[in-house]
Amino acid sequence: MQVYNTLTRQKETFVPLSEGHVGIYVCGPTVYSEPHIGNARGPVFFDVVRRWFTHEGLRVRYVSNVTDVGHLTDDADEGEDKLAKRARLEQLEPMEVAEKYFWRYFDAMARLGVRRPDIIPRASGHITEQLAMTQMLLEGGLAYERDGSVYFDVSAWRDYGELSRRNPDEQQEGTRVEVRGDKDDPRDFALWKRAEAGHIMRWPSPWGDGYPGWHLECSVMSTKYLGDTFDIHGGGLDLIFPHHECEIAQARGAGKPFARYWLHWNFLTFGGEKMAKSKGSLALSELLEEHGGVALRFHLLGAHYRSVSDFSDESLHASKQGLRRLHDAYAAVSKLAPTATQSQNDPFAPLRARFEAAMNDDFNTPQAIAVLFDASREVNAKLSRAGDTGAPAYAGAAKAFFDDLARDVLGIMGGQAQSVQDDTALLDGLVELVSAQRQEARLRRDFATSDAIRDRLAELGVALEDTPEGVRWKRGEPKGKVSG
Ligand code: AMP
Ligand code: ZN
Repeated sequence: MQVYNTLTRQKETFVPLSEGHVGIYVCGPTVYSEPHIGNARGPVFFDVVRRWFTHEGLRVRYVSNVTDVGHLTDDADEGEDKLAKRARLEQLEPMEVAEKYFWRYFDAMARLGVRRPDIIPRASGHITEQLAMTQMLLEGGLAYERDGSVYFDVSAWRDYGELSRRNPDEQQEGTRVEVRGDKDDPRDFALWKRAEAGHIMRWPSPWGDGYPGWHLECSVMSTKYLGDTFDIHGGGLDLIFPHHECEIAQARGAGKPFARYWLHWNFLTFGGEKMAKSKGSLALSELLEEHGGVALRFHLLGAHYRSVSDFSDESLHASKQGLRRLHDAYAAVSKLAPTATQSQNDPFAPLRARFEAAMNDDFNTPQAIAVLFDASREVNAKLSRAGDTGAPAYAGAAKAFFDDLARDVLGIMGGQAQSVQDDTALLDGLVELVSAQRQEARLRRDFATSDAIRDRLAELGVALEDTPEGVRWKRGEPKGKVSG
């Protein structure tokens, strides 16, 4: 299997550290706001990575963290803690904010068919370990204390810049002169920050009350659960610098060889611009309501993870049509062969080999999907030939093929993914039926009935809107007490 390693900027043969096992750490969300569709790209991709390794017979330990402290609004060492800020705005405890958006995130992931990580460590639950690494770096002469804060001394770490390949000048980008404060070098970054009066999230430390720097949690928690050396570290392209550069410096500085392969997914753009929470992006929850999880998942997997992918109504629509063709072929074979059968002479062996080659070439999901389309074309051609006595056996093999690769590896067919979509279709149908009844009542000028239907739907959280093109509906929060 070949994977593209950001550290070496080339495709390399993947050899796990310990035969038969693979340890993966992926930087997870800062749980302070609604996820947008861009936030789903990485988790969906890594869910497939994980499933592919499992399919290939490896035992995977997949660790993905949740940041609930230490991530400041300017992404560097100044500004307000993102959670504390949200807590202030929503009048909640910071940990209530964390809990709320933790579940928003994982509910959305479940709908996308993303399996829960094996371990979801939280930064606030690993303060002791973060203090220990800070202490080790101080003792090793790679960090210094200034007035209750501890900074990593970048000039003392020769390899700083090895991942991002930034030279010292470029490493200063983003550090604003006015906020460099008490650092010796603007490139230095906080391992531990002194908590000013009024800072809510604070813990005692040898240097006084404070809180950990954002980068530290990942060096600490990945090695705690995967070992000092582990196989794969993943994240979005925007995390290469400074976040991952700092993670490497901290971990290696503390004597841990750290991750061997670094995988970074590219951005999902919207109208050519990176989707970001700060720019009023597309809320994942709304898209899930409208399109269902499978369609979005399929759409995200339709681009290779290292390419930019632009999100638009048209491209999503095209993906949905494609997915429907695959589902139709799957429905046809499932009707003929309710149980999958794979015989010695598997007619799908060549297609399986192509799928496998695509996945083993740096997880080329668009090519793997193209193989599924070829398979569905073959299936349609074969099954449409009437009187083909080989059909049931062939259909069983086709079902085995789709179950194995489209359902279990890509997660875009059958199982839970399918039922989410089926529910959406069912709901669509029911709302359309009820709204047609309301339309008829209006035409009869029976406004009492039409208004009653509209109000009852509103109570259930379905808003009807009369537009020149007809009645449209939208689902939101239930509006009030549901009577009856
Ligand atoms: P943020 O929403 O900026 O807090 O980012 C949280 C995570 O989502 C990080 O791992 C980012 O790399 C990733 N991410 C944010 N925006 C995008 C995007 N438009 N496309 C892909 N990944 C993104
Ligand atoms: Zn991280």
